[in-house]
Amino acid sequence: MAGIGARKGLLMIIVPEKEIAGLIDRKASFDAVEAVFAAMASKDAYNFPVIREAIGHADALYGFKSGFDRKSLALGLKSGGYWPGNEAKGLTNHQSTVILFDADTGKVKALVGGNLLTALRTAAASAVSIKHLAPKGAKVLGMIGAGHQSAFQMRAAAEQRDFEKVIGWNFHPEMLSRLAETATELGLPFEEATLEQIGTEADVIISITSSHDPILLDAHVKGGTHIACMGTDTKGKQEVEATLVARASVFTDEIAQSVTIGECQHAVREGLLYDINITELGAVINGTHKGRTSEDELTLFDGTGVGLQDLAVASAAVDLAIKKGVAIEVDF
Ligand code: NAD
Repeated sequence: MAGIGARKGLLMIIVPEKEIAGLIDRKASFDAVEAVFAAMASKDAYNFPVIREAIGHADALYGFKSGFDRKSLALGLKSGGYWPGNEAKGLTNHQSTVILFDADTGKVKALVGGNLLTALRTAAASAVSIKHLAPKGAKVLGMIGAGHQSAFQMRAAAEQRDFEKVIGWNFHPEMLSRLAETATELGLPFEEATLEQIGTEADVIISITSSHDPILLDAHVKGGTHIACMGTDTKGKQEVEATLVARASVFTDEIAQSVTIGECQHAVREGLLYDINITELGAVINGTHKGRTSEDELTLFDGTGVGLQDLAVASAAVDLAIKKGVAIEVDF
């Protein structure tokens, strides 16, 4: 947009939630997340400690995820949380907004709607893990969870391997239609499955639920599967049995989050896994860790969701909004 370069530093850019869908696609999200995972592993980017509080009002959980990427100069935070009463008001229960700051001056640079971005960056994270860790010949995608995020997860995963079918399980079976419809949209057959079937047949399993108890058990999983555990992002949540985590070669976005709020928290607490046995996915992207070493290896990605993912996709959205002339400029 004309004038932005000349007045750089004076204007704040606003990218409203309604514009995000027209700006950033799965490829742009994938590239942004892959790059920032790599920057984290090379210590060019780091996340600040997560704040998450029950505020004692509207039953809401509110918090901040933040960080700084010295490579891209993305600095800022995602603020938001979960308001369970929103649906009755016609609003999304999860609410997120990203604020970006100029790394040279500290001045606010952009305010970006973060709801769709959260789904895109979360799906991109598991897709990056599938690209780098799943068996090359993976044919069956297993989905555990059929909530809002699950469709985003399936679409992003489907771009990483030549899957021939999707099988799925959900705690609330009436929600499985979301998985069936998404698979149809992707031109893939869908079958409802038991957890035993998913553990035996699926080459890649994505778990994306709000469960607080293990769903996928050690005994369920046979063979060289890749499991992306994406639902556990808070202390107390759990999707996978701790012994299954301990049996796998474990990768994560960030080790500090993995052992405290991620899927690994349980295996670590039970003394089955130590942080030195967990590898940042970025190390595989950078080529400093070999990742999967055989088709029989069980790999597990603990996708806890880091602030830098949010900053990466929000920065991409801001660049695209400027390029496409839909960025709102405010003298701030
Ligand atoms: P949603 O509310 O739309 O769906 C919830 C899902 O969890 C459904 O499949 C539901 O059937 C299942 N579920 C609910 N209670 C359960 C139980 N007791 N046992 C097993 N399954 C149960 O939620 P969503 O937006 O799809 O998000 C799913 C999860 O992903 C949430 O826990 C959310 O916090 C998490 N999440 C993680 C990241 C990340 O970066 N890792 C990002 C966004 C969301």
